[in-house]
Amino acid sequence: MSEFLINDLSESSICIGCGLCESVFGNEFVKITEDSAGFFVAKQSKRLDANQIKKLKKWCPAIRVENPVAGTREDSLIWGNYESIASGYATNPEMRFKGSSGGALSAVLSYLINSMKYEGVVQIGRAVNEATRNSNFFSTSDDMLLRNAGSRYSPSSPLIDITRIIDNHKKIVVVGRPCDISALRQYLNSIPKCDLDVVLISFLCAGTPSLKGTEKILSMFNLNKSDVVEFRYRGEGWPGMSYAIDKLGRKHSLSYEDSWGKVLNKHLQFRCKICPDGVGSSADITFGDAWDSDSGYPDFSEKEGQSLIISRTYLGKKIIESAAEFGAINLTKFDVGKLRTIQKYHLNKKGLVWSRLIAWRLLGKSYPKFTNFNLYKLSRMIPIKITISNMFGTLKRIVKI
Ligand SMILES: Cc1cc2nc3c(=O)[nH]c(=O)nc-3n(C[C@H](O)[C@H](O)[C@H](O)COP(=O)(O)OP(=O)(O)OC[C@H]3O[C@@H](n4cnc5c(N)ncnc54)[C@H](O)[C@@H]3O)c2cc1C
Ligand code: SF4
Ligand code: SF4
Repeated sequence: MSEFLINDLSESSICIGCGLCESVFGNEFVKITEDSAGFFVAKQSKRLDANQIKKLKKWCPAIRVENPVAGTREDSLIWGNYESIASGYATNPEMRFKGSSGGALSAVLSYLINSMKYEGVVQIGRAVNEATRNSNFFSTSDDMLLRNAGSRYSPSSPLIDITRIIDNHKKIVVVGRPCDISALRQYLNSIPKCDLDVVLISFLCAGTPSLKGTEKILSMFNLNKSDVVEFRYRGEGWPGMSYAIDKLGRKHSLSYEDSWGKVLNKHLQFRCKICPDGVGSSADITFGDAWDSDSGYPDFSEKEGQSLIISRTYLGKKIIESAAEFGAINLTKFDVGKLRTIQKYHLNKKGLVWSRLIAWRLLGKSYPKFTNFNLYKLSRMIPIKITISNMFGTLKRIVKI
């Protein structure tokens, strides 16, 4: 096994830049950097010994991802195991407005720190000095949660400082993409039991767009990064607009359908194409968009936000119930069958992973070991013609890397 294994993972485009390796081994060994394609990846500068490699293999999401509970129902196969599903929104109107969907995720964070005495939330948000970059925050107040509400469709490394935070706190909440949360769940399972109380929160994730996607949006506004004092991908309404505010105070905006649908989703990280866990199966609670639907498609017309709330563990279910009882969120029943219409992308994405991995195997490329996802069974939900054309498409793309 290579002593520079982390560089191998980054060069194979399967490192997602979660930052956990930097946190565990220290930045004298490995550091998250921006690569030439505009993604965050780990860059290793010192040899790892056999013990470090053994540790890495237990939790790095470029090496292994495990679905904690496979579930037996067909809907769990697709959407991950769950204790309950609802739609809902933050009862604090500012949080609902600023949030990506209904602000329910931020409202639950607020409930956990203000009422359940969690010490803080590990989350990402807009960097203080650069409007188009993300930074990490340990949020301890509603002001910070409001500042960091809203989806940032660009690279993030929420785990870059996680071991120090764990060492210094007893009750924390962590928000990350499904791959970040799976890495942290696997890491926590791999260390000796400690008295840490940690709630893991994620969101449905179609993939991380590169910073080139953000730059493309800026170029449509005739702006450079240095011209921009504020940049949001969405939120401030549902779905809200992507917008930039330039140094002269002018606002330039693009609809969600145009920014995500025509620009950002064309710049997704390669690792995301073979991800079977965009539904966040390792989280205690996964949030998403509870889109309305008419005509069999999600309805993106502007309205008051509604988050999808999937409680995956008993802990997650109890938190959602008590947050609703306390009045932090408003909940409505949600029919899981509706997900096939409003989150169709995830059904297709999951169903295609099996064939895409065959392409990787044919070319002798390494890829993460995905355990408990029933990928073959999922592939049978996709028409065979689409499966085959995707396999060839993946082969072509890998040859180009
Ligand atoms: C890359 C990406 C892809 C997504 N894909 C889908 C999808 O396919 N389907 C879907 O329904 N929803 C998707 N979402 C989630 C969706 O946009 C909302 O975040 C979710 O609906 C919850 O909304 P909310 O108003 O309850 O959350 P909010 O109250 O707005 O809270 C959002 C939280 O997400 C955190 N966050 C934002 N961006 C990132 C990031 N890049 N990395 C780590 N943490 C971040 C913030 O720190 C904040 O804590 C995606 C989000 C991201 C960032
Ligand atoms: S732990 Fe995260 S950042 Fe490090 S190599 Fe694995 S995926 Fe990349
Ligand atoms: S699609 Fe999967 S690999 Fe990509 S960012 Fe989302 S959870 Fe991580």
